[in-house]
Amino acid sequence: MTIQEKPPLKVLLCSPRGFCAGVVRAIESVERALSVYGPPVYVRHEIVHNRYVVEALRAKGAIFVEELDEIPDTDAPVIFSAHGVARSVPAEAARRGLFALDATCPLVTKVHREAEIHHRRGREIVLIGHPGHPEVIGTLGQLPPGAVTLIESVADAKIFVPRAADNLAYVTQTTLSVQDTADIVAVLKRRFPAIAGPNKDDICYATTNRQEAVKCVAPHVDAMIVVGSPKSSNSQRLTEVAKRAGCARAMLVQRASDIDWNDFGAITRLGITAGASAPEILVEEIIGAFAQRYAVSVETVSAATEDMFFPLPRALRETQAAE
Ligand code: SF4
Repeated sequence: MTIQEKPPLKVLLCSPRGFCAGVVRAIESVERALSVYGPPVYVRHEIVHNRYVVEALRAKGAIFVEELDEIPDTDAPVIFSAHGVARSVPAEAARRGLFALDATCPLVTKVHREAEIHHRRGREIVLIGHPGHPEVIGTLGQLPPGAVTLIESVADAKIFVPRAADNLAYVTQTTLSVQDTADIVAVLKRRFPAIAGPNKDDICYATTNRQEAVKCVAPHVDAMIVVGSPKSSNSQRLTEVAKRAGCARAMLVQRASDIDWNDFGAITRLGITAGASAPEILVEEIIGAFAQRYAVSVETVSAATEDMFFPLPRALRETQAAE
């Protein structure tokens, strides 16, 4: 087939997309630890939810574990993932004398501190988030059992029964749907007008901006690809946002090899975005796969400009300064 015979395909590329400042910091923390201390470097949980990133770090000498008890007694660094951990995890690392480096995103740590302050002020706390997600486990684990109630939906918010309705606060997971969270917060505020909380929610800038860009593109395309892992909360939300914004054919794809070409066929306009843990190289790979079948032209649609930067954890910063 010659180039001329390929059907035309306009790709609308969402911006911002892909890596956020917290993910860059987490990955650089592992890379930096590998270069300063040498392999192995232990990482508790996938440093970020992306198979490609995890495999690349594994090839350089990172060893991924789910719990500290999988790590032998060692001088090697142990890095906590960007999602954050319950207080019991650094406590256990300290008890065992492990050299822990915390790559928790500072925007997740901010939520931990908010929850702690509400608790210190005697407030009962509602956490809006998805059960089982590592960030939620970490936030729940900042406070004693029972101090925080997890709710996930408007239905949960409608039936939540607090211990004292006038002494409540809420915090949220950082990677939720902006719209769904606003709906849940609205129910809580209607039922409990005195509830304390952030201005709006704790959804981070990266999640918000990626969802905004998808909302700009989704109504104008025949299909939308979200590059990301099924484990990635913000990637899953991007797929939902695309569907809600008018693109019924929105799908999460990890690699070009995952694409089911039967899903596409006669499309003429395709949206592409990437979750905060998906590297740009995978976006390029997917555009390349479409370019083999279509005469692709790419236009970037920008919803926001980002310049967020988070410095490395202190111990790693000090190794930089010493160079
Ligand atoms: S998605 Fe947001 S909270 Fe999560 S690592 Fe990125 S910046 Fe931090």
